[in-house]
Amino acid sequence: MMMLLGSVALSGQAKPGEPSPGWPHLKYALYFTSAEIEKLLTDSASMRETMEYLGPVRAAKVYLECTSMGDVNVPQMKELAARFRALGLRVSGAMVPTVPGGPICYNNPDHLALLERRSRAVAQVFDEVILDDWLFTTCTCEKCVAGRGKSTWADYRTKLLLEKSKEYIIDPAREVHPGIRMIIKYPNWYEGHRENGYDVLNETHQFDAMAAGIETRTRATHDQHIPIYSGYVFQKWWSGVDPAKWVGSWLDNYTMQGQEDDYVAQVWQAVLAQAPEIILWSGGHLHHTGPFSDVYPHFREMLPEFDRVAGMLNGSPRGVPMYLPYGSEGEYNIFGYLGMAGIPIDPVGRFPAESRNAIFTRHSLRDPDLADKMLARLRAGHDVFMSWELFGKLHETEFRNMLNLIEPGGSVSSSQFRTRTGWNDTVTKSDRPFVFPRIATTTWPYAREVAVVREDNDFGVLLSVKYLNGTLYVLNMPENSYDLLRLPAPALNMIRRAFSGELGMHLTGPGGVGMYLFGTGQYVLYNMNDETVTVSLRFDGKVGESPWRELLHDRMLAVTGHQGQERSDGAAYDDVSLTLRPFEIAIVQSPGMRGAR
Ligand SMILES: [Zn+2]
Repeated sequence: MMMLLGSVALSGQAKPGEPSPGWPHLKYALYFTSAEIEKLLTDSASMRETMEYLGPVRAAKVYLECTSMGDVNVPQMKELAARFRALGLRVSGAMVPTVPGGPICYNNPDHLALLERRSRAVAQVFDEVILDDWLFTTCTCEKCVAGRGKSTWADYRTKLLLEKSKEYIIDPAREVHPGIRMIIKYPNWYEGHRENGYDVLNETHQFDAMAAGIETRTRATHDQHIPIYSGYVFQKWWSGVDPAKWVGSWLDNYTMQGQEDDYVAQVWQAVLAQAPEIILWSGGHLHHTGPFSDVYPHFREMLPEFDRVAGMLNGSPRGVPMYLPYGSEGEYNIFGYLGMAGIPIDPVGRFPAESRNAIFTRHSLRDPDLADKMLARLRAGHDVFMSWELFGKLHETEFRNMLNLIEPGGSVSSSQFRTRTGWNDTVTKSDRPFVFPRIATTTWPYAREVAVVREDNDFGVLLSVKYLNGTLYVLNMPENSYDLLRLPAPALNMIRRAFSGELGMHLTGPGGVGMYLFGTGQYVLYNMNDETVTVSLRFDGKVGESPWRELLHDRMLAVTGHQGQERSDGAAYDDVSLTLRPFEIAIVQSPGMRGAR
């Protein structure tokens, strides 16, 4: 049986009844699973110990998960919620929409009855409830297969989930508690969203609010192999459906034993996406009794820096528009790899007609008028940057007339790259070979701006041709997408330079450094490499005499002027350079711009 907590305030928490002191610029929420509630919060002594241990997080809120095994104990959850409120914390509920053994069958009346009963129970306790991302279904029973009929799983399941989640979760909860706010949380495996029933566009409209998962976890060993920068893109992309409904970013430390840098890297994606709340799944996993809790001490040390950076971000976030219609699938996490290569991404669900340049991938094909709209961009003098895979899908359109290809097909491997600077070629050797789909082009139009070179020929990596009034760029991704970040710096610099007109500058240096732009004068750089790197912000022309500063460590930055020999257009450029240790973040501020405090 639970016991009431005494009236003594916990360290890092408010006095009873007063709001939690929190952080000036960030809000954290701790999620406790039902098993963790049983283990860590059921009596006053263990609750005190748990919340003291997690006190440095200065959480403003907790999410308390109701059991998925059997019936919810409503009086017990009410009492627990009251005890947290007495500590000055806001309290919301959580439910995991599963049945014992796994995901729900939305054609099984017993499963649906259970879902409804749980929804009615949580609505008696809480004003706000978040659904853990088990709303999906993978069921292939007789009824589900028959229900799908000639449709696809994606079309069938998205429609089914939309209907059933309203009928058995949202409506029953509202009946019990008319003012309740129901939050849907989306998992990071976007490529399987529709196939398993998630429909970010329509479900966001149907639910009262939404949260987006980061959950990139460990880079090398995690099943999903999601680049860290994708965590940032998911926040921006899905919240774009209705920014007012975005409650926050959800991240976890599941299986992250010994991966403190990768854990903190997830938090940075939430901070830089300016998440309204950072939901930590889970309190019990961060608590010292949790199996993956060794990431907690470093996270705790970093908390003041997260808040400082959040307070310094100044101006609207900006990046290169990347056309990712909702519900689209394409090259796996290509937006994350481009971001890890130092191209700031602004994911947009609507066709970007106005920007100087924009990125298109197979995802963009969800728009049936894609080719016409991209052609209109070129006609209007705007550039088009597309993946080679997308280009291959456009052979029925005007785009096939833009490049002259020689016998496409096959792959090539080499460790030598050629970049073009004016009429001069520079050859760079990498420390290992890379494999690319083989692109050979005719002599004219001369398109191979970056090429992978063998002794017999050179093959396209970045192609660019003028067409109508704009430029078409085609990027040939390495066969293993991760290799993009490991290309030699001169090759990456040329790829990034395609966006110099759009951004007013581009990054130079090795890959694995994310760039996040705010306003017209702020450049946040985050080194996600295990090595120290030196990078530069490269500006066309002169950037002025006034000092450039790095705000977080209060450093002055050197500006190096260059004549134009290194450029095909002969124009001079300036570099603002800095060195970043592994997983170090920096905020570069241009002269004349006042950093926010
Ligand atoms: Zn079924």
